[in-house]
Amino acid sequence: MTANANEEQRAKDRVKTSVDQATVIFAEKNIRFTELRKKVFEEIASTTASVGAYEVLDRLAQKGTRLAPISVYRALDALLEAGVVHRLESKNAYFACRRLHVPRTGRRPMFLSCEHCGTVLETDGEDIFSSIDAASRAAKFEPRVRFVEVTGTCQECAARRKV
Ligand SMILES: [Zn+2]
Ligand SMILES: [Zn+2]
Repeated sequence: MTANANEEQRAKDRVKTSVDQATVIFAEKNIRFTELRKKVFEEIASTTASVGAYEVLDRLAQKGTRLAPISVYRALDALLEAGVVHRLESKNAYFACRRLHVPRTGRRPMFLSCEHCGTVLETDGEDIFSSIDAASRAAKFEPRVRFVEVTGTCQECAARRKV
């Protein structure tokens, strides 16, 4: 197998694993993982970068599934509700949860967005959320923090730049 074929196979395996994990989460939450939701999720999970709604629409159209934008947005809403994708506010784009395999603890994630390759990573951000909540309340302000997004350089891009 060539390097490219290997990469392709790995991407396919990654999508399949993500779909399996998402299927379990949908079942746990009693939300239907319809064919359309699954298709939209597969497109988002196929890359490590974030994907815009219209890009999802285009990619599905190329594969012969032509949808109205509203259908894609409805599917995205369901995926967001299930927590299997997140929205990257700065880019108005979506990415598959990187912690699908982690038991749902209610701890809020922090998003790490690479400025160079667009990859989005995710890590536990609960300590940061707690600090924001505490500081806001101390200022007599009721916070409603839904996400913390950090931009910077991912490990692979950092290594590439050192070469
Ligand atoms: Zn997540
Ligand atoms: Zn990067």
